[in-house]
Amino acid sequence: MNTLKIAIQKSGRLSENSKKLLEECGIKFSNGISVLKTKAYNFPVEVLFLRDDDIPQYVEQQVADIGILGENMVYEKDKDVTVVEQLGFASCRLSLAIPREDTYNGPSWFMNKKIATSYPKLLTDFLSNNNVTAEIEEISGSVEIAPGIGLADGICDIVSSGSTLMTNGLKEVETLLKSQAVIIACKNLDEEKLAILNSLLFRIRAVKNAKENKYILLNAPESAIDRICAILPGMKSPTILPLAEKGWCSLHSVVKEDQFWERINQLKEAGAEGILVIPIEKMIR
Ligand code: ATP
Ligand code: MG
Repeated sequence: MNTLKIAIQKSGRLSENSKKLLEECGIKFSNGISVLKTKAYNFPVEVLFLRDDDIPQYVEQQVADIGILGENMVYEKDKDVTVVEQLGFASCRLSLAIPREDTYNGPSWFMNKKIATSYPKLLTDFLSNNNVTAEIEEISGSVEIAPGIGLADGICDIVSSGSTLMTNGLKEVETLLKSQAVIIACKNLDEEKLAILNSLLFRIRAVKNAKENKYILLNAPESAIDRICAILPGMKSPTILPLAEKGWCSLHSVVKEDQFWERINQLKEAGAEGILVIPIEKMIR
């Protein structure tokens, strides 16, 4: 039987979450430190462990059929692959930063300056869109120390909290790209591989939906049910069960994680009591 080859990062900021995602999709595989390739026991996929920089090229050439990596790397490498799903982890941005004490007056600050980066393509695009000529110093890691050691005037690098910039006396002045982990796929997948990819995507969406939602249970007087139902737009309509205490019922529904604090206050005001909020493992729409 055909298998779908999935490339994930061997070790780094994406690897744990990539493995966790496959595991949450019910895909079991062994994962020794020195293993570079492994077959799943219970799903027709093979997992390849690679450096993230190499994944776009391998997917373009169909050494791997699909890959999990950051959008920053996908757009920097600019290979002929398709982004098929956003995964919601490894959120970060590609930004320009300059020494904290300097005054920033817009992209022209970089005119005729030297910028250290591991993202020469995305930086070149930004500079040319802003009609700025600058020298690009391509380095592969520890970019933030470049201004401090006199290698460059500014940097273009991945930022999440900004604390690394701060420790190195830098400030963020422009965001070139917002990024998260995505799945990329080769453009020439045959029908069998496409079918495996679709069943994998089905599972991934069920896991993602579950994470974005919470199961909520509460007790309320029957007279409050209409108001509470209006606050809780569930999957269809909330489940309402009678309680042993006359005039009271228990109501079950699903709420979006990012709305639930706001909804919980509204629910209490409407008369809800004993509110429980429970994680959902999988959610199929
Ligand atoms: P490799 O050895 O595989 O080339 P790397 O050192 O180039 O790894 P990592 O630092 O592990 O790469 O980052 C991998 C990806 O994780 C980045 O391309 C980016 O999408 C994301 N990422 C990087 N830094 C952060 C961060 N601080 N917070 C969240 N995500 C990040
Ligand atoms: Mg890398």
